[in-house]
Amino acid sequence: MKEKTTKVCPICGSPKLYYEVGGKIGFVYHCKNCGYIGSFIIEANEEMAQALKDEYAKKQGDEIND
Ligand SMILES: [Zn+2]
Repeated sequence: MKEKTTKVCPICGSPKLYYEVGGKIGFVYHCKNCGYIGSFIIEANEEMAQALKDEYAKKQGDEIND
């Protein structure tokens, strides 16, 4: 059985990633949602993506409460 996966941001779980040509290192991913820039991304299934989103939302909440 093949599971459907999506490339998502490792920080916030958003699939809104786009390539940015980054000079020496070739290219990097740029997340539109949280501003993450890096070559590392995650191939996540729906569950994983949702878990990342929840985790990120929690962190955002903590920052606001601080
Ligand atoms: Zn992100």
